[in-house]
Amino acid sequence: MPPERVPIPPTFYADDTDAPFDECMVCDQPLRDGSVDYVIEKGFRSYEGYDVEETVFGYALCMPCHATLSNSFSDASAQRCSSFLNEHMDLPERTAALLPSTEDVSVDPSDWTQQCVVYGTPKKDLEEYQLLAHCRGEKMLVTHLPLMIGGPAIEALVERLSNETLDELGGFRDEHFGVPPELQQNLQGPVLA
Ligand SMILES: [Zn+2]
Repeated sequence: MPPERVPIPPTFYADDTDAPFDECMVCDQPLRDGSVDYVIEKGFRSYEGYDVEETVFGYALCMPCHATLSNSFSDASAQRCSSFLNEHMDLPERTAALLPSTEDVSVDPSDWTQQCVVYGTPKKDLEEYQLLAHCRGEKMLVTHLPLMIGGPAIEALVERLSNETLDELGGFRDEHFGVPPELQQNLQGPVLA
């Protein structure tokens, strides 16, 4: 079955334009014409007791740039992360549980991002979380993505990264995000796609 495609939900829009991302953050490849698949990653932070949520970062990366970044992970980092994720996630099961069993029911992609994909923590109980989506042109593909990963699971992944990989990701961050150092702690770039 080909993946469901839905319009990109506003949660995945670029904050500065309030519209879907136009280009790859790294190579400026246009994304809206559908010539290349891309991932969107956004990080959010909420404040306990306040009904406010702010975007900490957000970007789109074309698949070739995403692959380049993933390949910069050391073998040890990649292996430790994937065995951690395999231990905690069953992606085919997740997809089967989320996708409606009949074609009459329309897909609601927000169902995909209500709980941390690793620990199952509900979004409302998380101070920090990241969202990840796979898009093509103006559509989001609904597969085992989109997903939400909470702060504690991100930390667990980061602990499994080698210093070499952390340096790579740090360099990527410094080059592409103008974020203040106190917010950088959990901005590790796309660890999961
Ligand atoms: Zn690119």
